[in-house]
Amino acid sequence: MAAARSVYFSFLPHHGRAVTQPLPLPALHASHAGTWLRDANGATRGCSKGEAVMAAADTPQLLMNAPLVASRLGYPDLSGLDLLELFAFVYPARFCVPTPKGLAHALGLEEPADDAAVPLLLQRAAGALVATCESNDWAEREGAWSTLQSLARLRWPWAGVLAPHVRRPERAEKWLFTRLPEWEETAERPQPAQVLIDEPEIEAQLERLTGEGAERREGQRLFSRDAGHVFGPRDRQKRPHVLLAQAGTGIGKTLGYLAPASLWAERSGGTVWVSTYTKNLQRQLRRESRSAWPAARADGSPPVVVRKGRENYLCLLNLEDALQGGFAGRPAILAHLVARWAAYSQDGDMIGGDLPGWLGTLFRKRGIAALTDQRGECVYAGCPHYRKCFIERSARNAAQADLVIANHALVMVNAARGRDPASRPTRIVFDEGHHVFDAADSTFSAALTGQEAIELRRWIVGPEKNSRGRRRGLAARLADVASYDDAGGEAVEDAVVAAQALPSDGWLGRLAENAPLGPLEHLLAAVRATTFARDESGLAMGYGIETETAQLPGELVEAAGTAAQALATIRTPLLKLAGRLEAIVEDAPDWLDGQGRARIEGARHSLAWRIDLIAAWEALLSRLGGPADPEFIDWLQVDRNDSREFDVGIYRHWLDPMKPFAKVVLEPAHGVMLTSATLTDRDETGPDWPHAITKSGAPHLELAPKTAEAQSPFDYAGRAEVLIVTDIRKGDIPALAGAYARLIEASDGGVLGLFTAIRRMRAVYGRIADRLARAGLPLYAQHVDPIDTGTLTDIFRDDPRASLLGTDALRDGVDVPGRSLRCVVMESVPWPRPTILHRARRAAAADQEGGAKRYDDRIIRARLAQAFGRLIRTREDAGHFVVLSPAFPSRLLSAFPEGTPVTRLTLEEALQRVANGVVSADLSTAEILPQ
Ligand code: SF4
Repeated sequence: MAAARSVYFSFLPHHGRAVTQPLPLPALHASHAGTWLRDANGATRGCSKGEAVMAAADTPQLLMNAPLVASRLGYPDLSGLDLLELFAFVYPARFCVPTPKGLAHALGLEEPADDAAVPLLLQRAAGALVATCESNDWAEREGAWSTLQSLARLRWPWAGVLAPHVRRPERAEKWLFTRLPEWEETAERPQPAQVLIDEPEIEAQLERLTGEGAERREGQRLFSRDAGHVFGPRDRQKRPHVLLAQAGTGIGKTLGYLAPASLWAERSGGTVWVSTYTKNLQRQLRRESRSAWPAARADGSPPVVVRKGRENYLCLLNLEDALQGGFAGRPAILAHLVARWAAYSQDGDMIGGDLPGWLGTLFRKRGIAALTDQRGECVYAGCPHYRKCFIERSARNAAQADLVIANHALVMVNAARGRDPASRPTRIVFDEGHHVFDAADSTFSAALTGQEAIELRRWIVGPEKNSRGRRRGLAARLADVASYDDAGGEAVEDAVVAAQALPSDGWLGRLAENAPLGPLEHLLAAVRATTFARDESGLAMGYGIETETAQLPGELVEAAGTAAQALATIRTPLLKLAGRLEAIVEDAPDWLDGQGRARIEGARHSLAWRIDLIAAWEALLSRLGGPADPEFIDWLQVDRNDSREFDVGIYRHWLDPMKPFAKVVLEPAHGVMLTSATLTDRDETGPDWPHAITKSGAPHLELAPKTAEAQSPFDYAGRAEVLIVTDIRKGDIPALAGAYARLIEASDGGVLGLFTAIRRMRAVYGRIADRLARAGLPLYAQHVDPIDTGTLTDIFRDDPRASLLGTDALRDGVDVPGRSLRCVVMESVPWPRPTILHRARRAAAADQEGGAKRYDDRIIRARLAQAFGRLIRTREDAGHFVVLSPAFPSRLLSAFPEGTPVTRLTLEEALQRVANGVVSADLSTAEILPQ
């Protein structure tokens, strides 16, 4: 199979593009439009799916994204020479949109004109990548030869092809774990100085950041001056400055708040946290912060740090374990490609960082998750890679940073239980502030479920007997403490014995067979039985079911009591152990050096977190069967996906999660700003500030936040149009699918299709994907294509003829400026799902002005406003927002920006408008929303 060295691979300049000889191996491409094969040196021909499967079974074929090709061919076991795996090997930590066109762009090759041209592109791309391995300029050469030897042993299909082209280095290559730099311990930052920044200074800074000659935007200047308010010194303890700033899309709010934030950080020596909901905004912030801060300070430390939850980062100890036999087969190949990436990664962030989002999905299993520290098993300074650990580096960098970019959940968790109180956030800008309520809702909730409980068991006891790898329990992690301190050792032993009461592997099967083991499994079995007994939703598999905690059967209440006792028996030795660790740190023995101390501090921190968790579970159980607490909403739930149940448990949410938010986040802070384009609801009378204030949590501290508003500079009246299509009947799937297909055809792609139910989305996709593909209009869908959401968005952004279907995550997170997104189609009015949580909050709102109906309207308007916000991202964008709904209440129209024309019409009329484009649309019949 191996080609003769250097015969096929030469670069010739041709119209500015690199031209390489194709790699003479057979190639296969399959899309919804058909299937193509190309011989090693011959012509491309269309073929049947069956032929393609036979060919792939005979000889390894060049292909791109094997799981996707497999799903197009309906043959899940397909394998071959995947170009994406080769790309990940040759160019670790480089970006590539995982489509033939994206690959062509990444390699400087000509785009394939159509599907039939893809197999030749695959041969060319393979030729170009192999040629890179021969080139002297290959920037990522270091480590490649050694990795290739390991991959050959694992029978990676590419290993034989590459072997003649990756030359053996003259000197032994550095192993990843020696190559990575060590972080340095630094002194704690002093408290920030109290400084006042005046408005002219903020304006001057804003001008500096926006750049010479930039257009002067009054809205942005106003916004920036208002943002300065939160950086003033606090007058009274527990009384932070709070600002709610609504900033229409396009006013430039990021630089608007970075102007005062950067001035304050520079003068005070403190850290500003900017919290976002989406990774897109994190990337944008990283980019825009470069105008205010250099990439590195004179001492080499970064002034701007992106900080995520630890489960996002590669754990080097887990990786080492995977490389040394912890993983076998395909996951082991993944581990070696991840090791290649780790050597070149900017910060070791595996989820949304520079590890390609598609890499994990090529290997189909949960390999990526197993390489992170999902279970809190970190041994801190006891880990041989501690000084190189990406997570530790990121935490240390953040403690010294001027700007930390994080997400809402992490900011809240950090405020609640940050490892080091001195580095808890005190000046916080919550951008995408309309999501703060939901983030608080999940952060401050409690869930006693089977999955959570088994995680706790593994954390205490260690892995079950038959699992591979190094995962270790508490006893192994704290072995030296146990040998030094008898009482500590006993506490660990007691905790391990008590933790046998928690669910173990196979618990879901035992629940289904009604043969639970131990008090927690008995409780979960009772929860499951009660939920099924009371369920009246009629929901099929694929949907979770739930029931409230009222009128519970006696057995469940009894099982809850026994389970609570078992939990207390686990918590008691953990508390004792925490006390012993504290004593050891205070009265340090000789052997306790700095690293040992850090390790014990780490163990104390994770112990405290588990103790709190168990206490919250006990509290949750103690209420079952008793009177309901009006502050909380409790329910029982069985989670199910397409084919099976995957979790069972008891949930507790705050009726108003902004109450703990106010206590934990606002009260200790000095300045907090919430900003968003949709911070307030807007009904017919205008923006509803009183409600936005209530929702900020400030009233719980009796604070009256300052409010500010800056209008979007976009010309919505001239560049967007809302079309309400009134002749598609609700529930008529063929009509719904037909409408989507025709709208996508009319707009020639570029459609973002939003659904409230995955099932309907799949049904629509199944009916129309082939038809559209044959017209050269690729269609992708969340929960259908084996591709993660971030990558799907990259594919959509990269191809103006592509369309994308999805659910909530796309409604809120897609940022696709330009022509690639020119039409948003919603399948219906996005009514809230009538869950127990929703029902309880709706009932609580019944006494307020507008009652329960207004509560629902607010939710729908917020969703509509978010979805509409996907359409116009820049001044040049234009497009249609289509809702397929025969009955769209007029009171919801205020969700759209003022002046946007809204027309109710038939599908035929809508198709005409979409085909004509917005700017030339005839708006004579539109309802123009009041200015
Ligand atoms: S310090 Fe912890 S997270 Fe970091 S590599 Fe070691 S075990 Fe993993």
